[in-house]
Amino acid sequence: MVSYYIKTNRTFTAIRRYGWIFTLLVAFGGLWYPKLGLLVIPVIISLTTVAFFKGRYWCGNFCPHGSLFDSLIMPISKNKKIPVFFRSKFFGILFFAWFSFNLIRKLIKVSAIYGTAPFWDKLGFVFVASYLMVTIVGGTASIFFAPRTWCNFCPMGILQKLSYRLGKLLGVNKKTDQKISAARTEMCHTCGKCSRVCPMQLTPYLEFSDKNQFDNENCIRCSTCVVNCPAGILTLNNEEIALQIKGKTDITGYENRQKIQAHVEKIKKLKDDIIEYTFKFEKPARVDYKAGQFILVKIQNDPKMYRAYSISSYNEDSTKVSVTIKKMQDGYGTGIIFANFKVGDKVELEGPMGNELVVDKTAEKVLLVGGGIGITPFRAIVRDLVENKNDIKEFKLIYGVNYQEEFIYVDEFKALEAKSDKFEFIQVAAFDKKWEGKKGFVTDVMKEMDLTGYKVYMCGPKPMTNAALKVLNQLNVKKENVFCESA
Ligand SMILES: Cc1cc2nc3c(=O)[nH]c(=O)nc-3n(C[C@H](O)[C@H](O)[C@H](O)COP(=O)(O)OP(=O)(O)OC[C@H]3O[C@@H](n4cnc5c(N)ncnc54)[C@H](O)[C@@H]3O)c2cc1C
Ligand code: SF4
Ligand code: SF4
Repeated sequence: MVSYYIKTNRTFTAIRRYGWIFTLLVAFGGLWYPKLGLLVIPVIISLTTVAFFKGRYWCGNFCPHGSLFDSLIMPISKNKKIPVFFRSKFFGILFFAWFSFNLIRKLIKVSAIYGTAPFWDKLGFVFVASYLMVTIVGGTASIFFAPRTWCNFCPMGILQKLSYRLGKLLGVNKKTDQKISAARTEMCHTCGKCSRVCPMQLTPYLEFSDKNQFDNENCIRCSTCVVNCPAGILTLNNEEIALQIKGKTDITGYENRQKIQAHVEKIKKLKDDIIEYTFKFEKPARVDYKAGQFILVKIQNDPKMYRAYSISSYNEDSTKVSVTIKKMQDGYGTGIIFANFKVGDKVELEGPMGNELVVDKTAEKVLLVGGGIGITPFRAIVRDLVENKNDIKEFKLIYGVNYQEEFIYVDEFKALEAKSDKFEFIQVAAFDKKWEGKKGFVTDVMKEMDLTGYKVYMCGPKPMTNAALKVLNQLNVKKENVFCESA
């Protein structure tokens, strides 16, 4: 079954990766050397202090148990939805009361022997026992539900929320209180990836405030959503900086974003795993869009979720749009689209969006680079540049795949090449021994070119665009002349 939640790296620092060593040392080492439990006292003091200024930042960045769950247990976790009961306020408060009562009771009992030889061992053991309990209960919940199940009712989490609220009440943490912030919500793809990778299974994309911040107190400020957002709009910042970023972010290309009711007009299978879908607009009946933009296709209502697709059709009369979709192995969204979308079905779209691949028609020379399914926007772009007036003197398209069977729309590109003396079409296959054309990666072709005076537009998988950015840097193509989107 296709999994909704995505297992992805959450351990970006050495503390997050190896903090679990501390957990195992105290929880198990403490059984032989109970004084190790005393190390938990500074941990509790630190997390309460950090929380006063930064909410649950400790949980996402320093917590040794968090490291155990994210680093060691995640690979074997079922990574399922955390049961609602464990996430409820009722259970959290009840568990906090029970845990605090027991801890205080044990501390009072131990305090009775203060000044005697076994005092420090007994005191340490109180914390060793708690650490062991969290390791066993939290670890088991991690395996059977999701890695951070425990964190939803952890008493230390509640303690941090109380400390954070006190900081807020006193008005002292405005500058230090960094929250997940969206540069501009207009640029959000509503893809839900921030939620699918979130250790706490929160839904930031559905809850941004009018200051573009995610105010949920259970956010552990781990930045996993920041790293994974395909739109690159998320940061961890305080309110002041979030508003500054909002003010500075250019939303050219997103101004006409709108909800569009449409229906599936045509489904064309290009390969076993690649299908071109044409949607006819209904309400509004006409939507203007530019070559190089993308559009969102709704895949489900609860939680609301779309997938972004580059527009592969040339805009003839603004009444329809095509997207060309490659089915991802175990892909959540493409699984739904390939299985459910039939001709005549109603579909909700949102867009058009994006400006990165809208080619500057006043440029002198243009290089287009498409890798794999990243070729889709160039189908519309090349036709636009061949058929419509512009100042461009020459433009080339490098189209890279692994094996020649993967090429799509080749006849169309060749026909456009024959029609225009300004356009050159270059195909390259990386691993195909039978392929008689250029062999290698798109970067191998780029290295052979003199790119002086070129504007470069790229779309493809991240490894391709990253490698191409390096080559362009070596070829002295200035950053401001490079535009890139990862498909
Ligand atoms: C601007 C833009 C334009 C795009 N244009 C196109 C286009 O024209 N054509 C096209 O086909 N696509 C395009 N995409 C990609 C598209 O939006 C989707 O991301 C793609 O269709 C996959 O969606 P999915 O839900 O099926 O995959 P997902 O389920 O989101 O999977 C995506 C990735 O996450 C990983 N993953 C998923 N689940 C897990 C798990 N449980 N554990 C570990 N890893 C996991 C998978 O390895 C996979 O690589 C575009 C994206 C953007 C941002
Ligand atoms: S919303 Fe983002 S920062 Fe907050 S817990 Fe989820 S992934 Fe981490
Ligand atoms: S991950 Fe997707 S839904 Fe979340 S903020 Fe980024 S673009 Fe929006």
